[in-house]
Amino acid sequence: MKIYNTLTQSKQEFEPLEQKKVKMYVCGPTVYNFIHIGNARPMVVFDTVRRYFEYKGYQVNYVSNFTDVDDKIIKRAIEEGVDADTIAKRYIEECKKDMEGLHVRPATKHPLATEEIDGMLEMIQSLIQKGYAYVAFDGTVYYRTRKFQGYGKLSHKNIDDLQAGHREIKVTGSDGKEDELDFVLWKPKKDNEPYWTSPWCDGRPGWHIECSVMAKKYLGEEIDIHAGGEDLIFPHHENEIAQSEACNGKPFARYWMHNAFLNIDNKKMSKSAGNFFTVREISEKVDLQVIRFFMLSAHYRSPLNFSAELVEASKNGLERILTSVEHLNHLLKNGQEGTVTEKEKEHLIRAEEFVKKYEAAMEDDFNTADAVSALFELVKYSNSNASGENTKEYLQGLKDKILILCEILGIEAEKEPDSLDEKVEALIAERTQAKKVKDFARADAIRSQLLEMGIELKDTREGVQWKKR
Ligand code: AMP
Ligand code: ZN
Repeated sequence: MKIYNTLTQSKQEFEPLEQKKVKMYVCGPTVYNFIHIGNARPMVVFDTVRRYFEYKGYQVNYVSNFTDVDDKIIKRAIEEGVDADTIAKRYIEECKKDMEGLHVRPATKHPLATEEIDGMLEMIQSLIQKGYAYVAFDGTVYYRTRKFQGYGKLSHKNIDDLQAGHREIKVTGSDGKEDELDFVLWKPKKDNEPYWTSPWCDGRPGWHIECSVMAKKYLGEEIDIHAGGEDLIFPHHENEIAQSEACNGKPFARYWMHNAFLNIDNKKMSKSAGNFFTVREISEKVDLQVIRFFMLSAHYRSPLNFSAELVEASKNGLERILTSVEHLNHLLKNGQEGTVTEKEKEHLIRAEEFVKKYEAAMEDDFNTADAVSALFELVKYSNSNASGENTKEYLQGLKDKILILCEILGIEAEKEPDSLDEKVEALIAERTQAKKVKDFARADAIRSQLLEMGIELKDTREGVQWKKR
């Protein structure tokens, strides 16, 4: 399995630290609002990576944090006249609802920054002791960036060309930094801000330290994969490396994976440009499973353009897959008993080739775009090689292949029969019986009743099919 590693800027064979285990950390959102559609991309992409590893028999320990103390959360709390904790808790819950809609499975552990302060104090203390951090006159603790030999190795920047990135926490006025590249590990509280006591001052952590601490606590000093959006490469992930490697004296993550950005109608998403969408807003118009499928129709390292037309195209594509499974289910009801015929065996071997193609795409740096194409080929093959003449075992074999490939992408291709389905099926059975005994009045009445329920019937050679209007 090959993964593109930002650290080496090349595709590398995946070799886990421990056999058949993956330790994976994905930077999660700052919770001051509903998540936006861009935030959904890393969630969907890395959830799919996790699912594929599991399909291949790996046990994945997947950790993803929520940043629940931050300037934006505090600002929102002040605006609403509530405390920061109320804001953070509210949007963690809302984020979890969106994740569920997107079929993003909960992480093995979702640590919260505010619950890991002790670990942060410990790591900062250790960095001070080792000479990688210092305390300024006002109690701010800074990381001594130039002291870390490998600084810039992830973003491939030369330390002398660096400027502090946009996420850097700037301290105004004379801030007591030794060097402008130094970044904050701990900073003093301002009025009414949440704070914790520390040996240096009452205050709160800088942003970068939480991920170093959580990864170490829940996964260990060395991890297999560290992931997030490409905006995090610098300074966030660069700083995480500096903190973790200076503290632990070991390489931090072996593979660094970064997703490219999602743009709206080919423009950067921004509130001021009026093209900013939350996942929640979108869920009111489009099934989030469609959004997930749309996101996976591109390779994760390519920019993804979000537009109504492209989402519509994904909706139609997904529909083709769901219809194919529905058709197989229908055939299965009336399929032949007995074992798979020679001809059917040949078809199953051909179908398996599409599965192999799908796997090859996923193993080439998780190329979900090509994997989705292979899935479509399988669906097409199934559509043209399944009929009422086939054995149930064969039909089930085809269906299982489609379902497994969908499951890896987080697509539920088969709905659990809900109460509506059961009611409709019962009425159809009654209508068939009525027709058999030539009670056409009853048969017609049932058809009208179903129409009123929004259900259309179609009499086919393979029996009655129905769909919602
Ligand atoms: P944040 O809450 O800004 O830290 O973002 C949470 C995650 O979403 C990070 O992994 C970001 O890199 C990612 N992210 C933010 N905006 C976008 C976008 N437009 N497209 C893709 N990923 C994004
Ligand atoms: Zn992080």
